[in-house]
Amino acid sequence: MGSRELLTIGAFARASRLTPKALRLYDELGLLPPAHVDPHSGYRLYHPDQLDRARLVAWLRRLGMPLARIRTVCELGPAEAAAEVAAYWTAVEAETKARGELAAFLVGYLTDRSEREIIMPEPAPTLTIRYATRSDMGRVRAHNEDRAYAGARLLAVADGFGGDGEVPASAAAIEALKSLDTEMPAGDLLNALERAIHSANAAVRDLAAADPSQEGRGTTLTAMLLSGSQLALVHVGDCRAYLLRDGGLFQITHDHTLVQSLLDEGRLTREEAASHPQRSLLIRALAGSGVEPDLHLREARPGDRYLLCSDGLSVVVETAAVKEVLRTVADPDDAVRSLVDLADAGGGPDNVTCVVADVADGAA
Ligand code: MN
Repeated sequence: MGSRELLTIGAFARASRLTPKALRLYDELGLLPPAHVDPHSGYRLYHPDQLDRARLVAWLRRLGMPLARIRTVCELGPAEAAAEVAAYWTAVEAETKARGELAAFLVGYLTDRSEREIIMPEPAPTLTIRYATRSDMGRVRAHNEDRAYAGARLLAVADGFGGDGEVPASAAAIEALKSLDTEMPAGDLLNALERAIHSANAAVRDLAAADPSQEGRGTTLTAMLLSGSQLALVHVGDCRAYLLRDGGLFQITHDHTLVQSLLDEGRLTREEAASHPQRSLLIRALAGSGVEPDLHLREARPGDRYLLCSDGLSVVVETAAVKEVLRTVADPDDAVRSLVDLADAGGGPDNVTCVVADVADGAA
């Protein structure tokens, strides 16, 4: 190509709607090297054929894509580039959703605190819970790596993986949480949760550090902490929490599984999900490294019934059958027994663990 066809950086900037400053940056980053650099003046010259790429870079920048990833997209053919942009956007949406949930949690937390400051003389309503837990190995597994805890203020279920039956990561995580089962002001809830998640994660990490054969172990964790009438929910993995209120059953956690994210994206139907070969593949867990828990703050009401369960229940037993037990079996002990029996009757392919807790007025 003759130099007569080349555009100066100013002309190319106008044509591509990028600034000369941006063009120099993209050159330095290897995103869009000029067709020619004059050896004497150092001027950058661009070929008109480079406009397509320059425009693509500009659009990807508008999308907020990091420069390193733009470089990857620019090297791909159109079909692969399309797939890469789609994958990037899916990840952005998932992250935005998680941040939105955290924002909602913080709004609830701060609103509650400000209301408490205003109406200080009036004590926060105290609710009590009546609870039962049951855990069963199932019919197929050689060990039970599920663990549960239920106390006056704390309910938790954890489903360990990667173990050989000694100390499951779930046990370490639950042990680290137990100190939360105490009366605490609602204003301390956020710090307490932060501490709890990190101590549970550290406990899993210490397990691996003490014995290299423990590497690759981890656990899911779903826990509820009651403070006054505030119920804080922490969730990582595929255990579930349900609320039975006014006769309706609501799942109040979102599974961190590959299948659930494919469902969310509309890339799988419910029927396909149920028989997906990687149905139990987790995309988040407590495994000693970075933790990204979902946090929710809820108002608990007298009459609420909560169920925490491992996937050994939710994968095996239809939600309608779970609801039927929760609605009709009044005693929590009987309810957890019935639920575990249902999983067993369904073949008991996995460990199964349930916690049922009934919320009542503190004065009652
Ligand atoms: Mn399980």
